[in-house]
Amino acid sequence: MLKGKTAIVTGGTRGIGFSIVKTYLDNGANVALLGSRKESVDKALDKLSEYKDRVMGLWPNLTDPEEVKTAFEEVRDRFGRIDILANNAGISSKTSIYDFTLDEFEKVMDINVTAVFVCTQAAARIMKEQGGGVIICTSSMVGEYGQPSGCAYPASKFAVNGLVKSLSRELAKDGIRVNAVAPGVTRTDMLANLPKEMVDRVSAGIPLGRVGEPEDIANAYLFLASDMASYITGLVVKVDGAART
Ligand code: NAD
Repeated sequence: MLKGKTAIVTGGTRGIGFSIVKTYLDNGANVALLGSRKESVDKALDKLSEYKDRVMGLWPNLTDPEEVKTAFEEVRDRFGRIDILANNAGISSKTSIYDFTLDEFEKVMDINVTAVFVCTQAAARIMKEQGGGVIICTSSMVGEYGQPSGCAYPASKFAVNGLVKSLSRELAKDGIRVNAVAPGVTRTDMLANLPKEMVDRVSAGIPLGRVGEPEDIANAYLFLASDMASYITGLVVKVDGAART
């Protein structure tokens, strides 16, 4: 479905991002996976040795426009173009409003919102020159319902949805589609870091009777990146088994 296309996936070293990387590679794309450290990027690349001619890894600071620009140009130089950006890197929070420090609030906003802005801007500049592209952001079901602690996290995902809806309108004239995927409770390290009561409560109430797997999310990412979604932009696609917080 993505033969000949090039994708950049932030937070591509594990969890949902790694599954997106694998799915894109399995569907013929060239992929640059981005992580926060060289060690985690190398570890992920080791698991993808069968695709070694079509995959590369980088670890720019995603909130630094110069580092991101340099990294994206490196991807374009290696593969010729950039067709797809998956803004997937993110961190969660469970801190009570009474204990939240400004530092922690800003850390969540930096990676979940500022990095999406910085990466989208860098990719859009390249995609505009090429005549088009696709940008997909990882939102969350809490970006619709909120959550009972860690307020910075749902606030950041509401912001992601706002960027997606606005940029889909701004970038349509340049042939760039912008969508989001909003996962429900998904089996990754992030799930392991949430309070057990919160995970149990949410899982018990999921109508489809299970938590999501990273592949469930990656399949939505595949469809939205492909030409089959050529008339879809500005959408936040829920992939949550009809879960509600
Ligand atoms: P994860 O913790 O397994 O992976 C997070 C990824 O983000 C890693 O690759 C990590 O390297 C990267 N990352 C984190 N901080 C970074 C930084 N400062 N710079 C660069 N990269 C950084 O989590 P996941 O569950 O796979 O999360 C992926 C996305 O899915 C996130 O945006 C998250 O908010 C979203 N999400 C997850 C769930 C869930 O239940 N797992 C639900 C809804 C949304």
